[in-house]
Amino acid sequence: MPAASPQQITLLGATGSIGASTLDVISRHPDRYSVFALTAHRAANRLAELCLRFSPRYAVMTDSDAAKKLKTLLQTGRCATTVLEGEQALCEVACASETDTVMAAIVGAAGLAPTLAAVTAGKKVLLANKEALVMSGQLFMDAVEVSGCCLYPIDSEHNAVFQSLPRNFRRHTEGSGIRRILLTASGGPFRNASPEKLETVTPEQACAHPVWSMGRKISVDSATMMNKGLEVIEAHWLFGVPPGQIEVVIHPQGIIHSMVDYIDGSVLAQLGNPDMRIPIANALAWPERLASGARALDLFEIAALSFERPDFGRFPCLSLSYQALEAGGAMPTALNAANEEAVAAFLDGGLGFRRIADVVAATLECNGWQGAETLEAVLEADARARSFAREEICKRGAA
Ligand code: NAD
Ligand code: MG
Repeated sequence: MPAASPQQITLLGATGSIGASTLDVISRHPDRYSVFALTAHRAANRLAELCLRFSPRYAVMTDSDAAKKLKTLLQTGRCATTVLEGEQALCEVACASETDTVMAAIVGAAGLAPTLAAVTAGKKVLLANKEALVMSGQLFMDAVEVSGCCLYPIDSEHNAVFQSLPRNFRRHTEGSGIRRILLTASGGPFRNASPEKLETVTPEQACAHPVWSMGRKISVDSATMMNKGLEVIEAHWLFGVPPGQIEVVIHPQGIIHSMVDYIDGSVLAQLGNPDMRIPIANALAWPERLASGARALDLFEIAALSFERPDFGRFPCLSLSYQALEAGGAMPTALNAANEEAVAAFLDGGLGFRRIADVVAATLECNGWQGAETLEAVLEADARARSFAREEICKRGAA
């Protein structure tokens, strides 16, 4: 049954890969969803195209020159969308009274402020921006608790866990009957690569993911397996499951998106083709089901599913993530910040692929990653970790 009036959606990060998948699902159901605001960082041409197609009330560009360009493009196209600029405007469209649902699909720490603003305002929040949760864990979940907002995971693994948990599940307790969460991972493009090969990886090779088509930062994270490490931290905060009960399973076909192992021996899983429109449609319509445009799963075509243990030696980012989660405080904030800096340097040709993990490890080894109780403390730790990581990057360079 379509809603009486369409849900008004604010899409943070509209020009990215998740942004495109979200708009694809929304455009299939114009009776149910309407676009209230679209945001992007610098991609003015792309955002202009989207404004002309979806006619949002607002468009936000965080980059000031790009905002000017967008205004000109929209005037030429006679589009009535109002253009806003800057980081504060992201928060304004995220908690505007006219918006019902916020898709948090900005990449990296830049998404924290508007996502928290949406949570605090009690919006329905669809969370793709895992870095925001990783960097501010307890603070973020406390804000969810206080506002009572409905938070839906978009990351395919977490959405699969969400679908495999009891319908009224809130947070893991002694009585919830969960033995483990099994987070699946494709293993990325270098699952079988030798340590020598890993020394010479280029950004293009790292971004060529064998299963998923995604933005460049998350593609590199998948290649180092930092993505899975961030997802372990994300699963801990979303579901309240201790780190020792979250296990990573390499599953190269990318068909089982994750599982919940219960104490009676039952394992519940969610399966589907690797297509982000599936978790997006699930979260948009929950508890109903919505056609997403994804292809139906053909088990005969897939024929076999396989599983392997992760190689913590070749992919140290995975162990670093568990370490940061166990240590607590601002350690996950520092892990995320150092990783963002190191990945950006790698993509710019200024850091070798294997040095990404070295930079993160060196950053975690510094002292002083204790408190992350307030937003100020989180932002201070984030800034300090970035400045330390940048020094490490200068020392190590592209070698
Ligand atoms: P992307 O690089 O394709 O898009 C990023 C979006 O964020 C763009 O719209 C860009 O304009 C915006 N942006 C970038 N920097 C910004 C800044 N400083 N301020 C404001 N906006 C900024 O990224 P993506 O692959 O769509 O990923 C988005 C988020 O979703 C990430 O956190 C990623 O980990 C998560 N995620 C993505 C996938 C996927 O399949 N792509 C799957 C699971 C989770
Ligand atoms: Mg994922």
